[in-house]
Amino acid sequence: MKKYYLLTPGPTPIPPQVALKEALPILHHRTNEFAEIYKDVAEGLRYVFDTKNEVYTIASSGSGAMEAAVVNLLSAGDGIIVASCGNFGDRWEKIAKSYGVKVISASVEWGKVVVPSEIEKALKANPNVKAVFTTFTETSTGVVNDIKEIGKIVDKTNAVLVVDTVSGLGGQEFRTDDWKVDVVVSGSQKGLMLAPGLSFITLSQKAWKLVEKSQLPKFYFDLNKYKKSFLTNETPFTPPVTLIVALQESIKMIRQKGLENLWNEYKLLAKAARAGMEALGLELFGEVPCEVVTSAKVPEAIGGKIVKNLREKYGVSIAGGQGDLKGKIIRFAHMGYIGKADLLVGFSCLEMVLVELGVKVELGKSVAAAQNVLLKG
Ligand SMILES: *Cc1c(COP(=O)(O)O)cnc(C)c1O
Repeated sequence: MKKYYLLTPGPTPIPPQVALKEALPILHHRTNEFAEIYKDVAEGLRYVFDTKNEVYTIASSGSGAMEAAVVNLLSAGDGIIVASCGNFGDRWEKIAKSYGVKVISASVEWGKVVVPSEIEKALKANPNVKAVFTTFTETSTGVVNDIKEIGKIVDKTNAVLVVDTVSGLGGQEFRTDDWKVDVVVSGSQKGLMLAPGLSFITLSQKAWKLVEKSQLPKFYFDLNKYKKSFLTNETPFTPPVTLIVALQESIKMIRQKGLENLWNEYKLLAKAARAGMEALGLELFGEVPCEVVTSAKVPEAIGGKIVKNLREKYGVSIAGGQGDLKGKIIRFAHMGYIGKADLLVGFSCLEMVLVELGVKVELGKSVAAAQNVLLKG
């Protein structure tokens, strides 16, 4: 029998009290009982997104809310700026192009962070663009972008700022309203500690003005429908009732803990994870590391094997690199229901796998480095 440890940057482990909610019998969704739950969830999401605006819940993975943002804000032929620094940022460009939207790039090499002044330049050179699309924590590389700074820049223009927080929300300080972010999308299976299957989106008044003019085709993702149903605490289509009931529980946990306290916990875990990687002689990857996932470079010859062996021999799932980074980095998550002990398990097994693959490693070194950080925290 093998015990599994999920240390991947999504999906993340589900707390038992949340998993139990996912096991309850299904409610009917056109009832007062469900409406009460949905209302509570919607209020809780406002807290998590730190916004006064409504947050809509969609039945899809995170990418569904990304597509919803594109099709509700834009029309064919519109221009947008995409500031990408990795796989998920690139997804904005792919979605936009598949709808005939013109993309102006303010993107950087994977591993770097996007440059606010480059976005400013692109906005000046292209004053008619409708929106700037970027990513908060770029999970594929492990960096965090300076959304606050980008918000100040975009706020002065007619364009709206659209940010993907699928992995960062709940894990690291993010403030929708204060940072002048017009549209924020997220998902259920990372910081929110649920099974995959829900996505979220919130829009500012400035963004709703664009929605009124948008001509791109849409039906299931038409946010006007979600806005209308929201008035009666409903969703336009049958919602994943199970996940919404469970979301009520995970939001309750987040509120009890307090967002600031949660952020501090992940900050400490991130610090410990970085210390662990460095103790193993693995160079950290990413210009400005985020606090929800830690990436480090690994020798290419064994990169894929590390991830595979960890899972197959020890039941520990971490992630490797995506796209061009395949086999070149490993990614260790510390978001959602991942705690100090999980991190220590991950590092101790990582050491064993490295030894088995012929890497010179002093056993216990990364664990001790992480422990020292955690003890001080
Ligand atoms: C996981 C993730 C997504 C969405 O992925 P889905 O598989 O569609 O849920 C988007 N952006 C970022 C930054 C992510 O980490």
